[in-house]
Amino acid sequence: MEILTTRKSVAARVGDLKQKGYSLGLVPTMGALHEGHGSLVQKALSENDKVIVSIFVNPTQFNDPEDLKKYPRTLDKDLQMLQGMHVDFVFAPESEEMYPEEDKRKFELYPLDSVLEGLFRKNHFNGVAQIVSKLFETTSPDRAYFGQKDFQQLVIIKRLVTIMEYDISIVPCPIIREPDGLAMSSRNVLLSPKERKAAPFISQILFKAKALKETLSPEEIRQWVVDQFNKQQVFALDYFEIVDDLELKRIADWSDEVTKVGCIAVQIGRIRLIDNIIFD
Ligand code: AMP
Repeated sequence: MEILTTRKSVAARVGDLKQKGYSLGLVPTMGALHEGHGSLVQKALSENDKVIVSIFVNPTQFNDPEDLKKYPRTLDKDLQMLQGMHVDFVFAPESEEMYPEEDKRKFELYPLDSVLEGLFRKNHFNGVAQIVSKLFETTSPDRAYFGQKDFQQLVIIKRLVTIMEYDISIVPCPIIREPDGLAMSSRNVLLSPKERKAAPFISQILFKAKALKETLSPEEIRQWVVDQFNKQQVFALDYFEIVDDLELKRIADWSDEVTKVGCIAVQIGRIRLIDNIIFD
């Protein structure tokens, strides 16, 4: 496994690979890797001749400086895991390498960035688009792998590919959960033991909400979820919405011919967790 830290060295390696006719898969991450990331890497390895995993905690997508500061960083452990999986390349640049100067680009993501997370994390998705476009342009992959855990991000990346006319297939990967149902996340390690014990409530409510589809309307389910969280002390619910998977518009009726996804964001103490479930 080769560890690269400059865009120039990545571009040189990618040039070699392309010349040899190899296909390349990219897995963008912010490190603190867990089995969720591992599943993306596994899929990339099975579908490409070579795989590059990027590890970069992207400052432009953090709207809260405290969140950026406390974001877990475990590079040595991450490299061990990727080495064990036989990944070909890791790209782990410093901030100055990705942002030698301020990135002032604004991407046309409206209205996808104005709902759900967009209402709570101003400019977050523009920051995501900034770094993903840089990673795409540096690595020129054939395929790039993203988790459905960050469902809105996945929809926005697909939009980015369309507006920037990238010749890259976006491969969605299912959510990997802990045995107790909690969606794996790098932020889970920041939960206190008490918060960690309470956290599976989020996925339990999502699973129950899905089961209620037979008897309740989308709006009734939304209200039911709000009520469940109002009864809890440990959590503060930011939102629960059932939306379609293309435009992220609220679903009014189960008969709508679209894929329906229930998206949730919850604060536990000072940690914010997101999760989602596909309703059909
Ligand atoms: P992050 O390091 O949190 O930016 O995540 C990097 C990639 O891994 C993103 O595409 C995430 O959606 C994906 N990912 C994170 N957690 C999970 C999970 N529990 N299951 C599947 N994919 C995940």
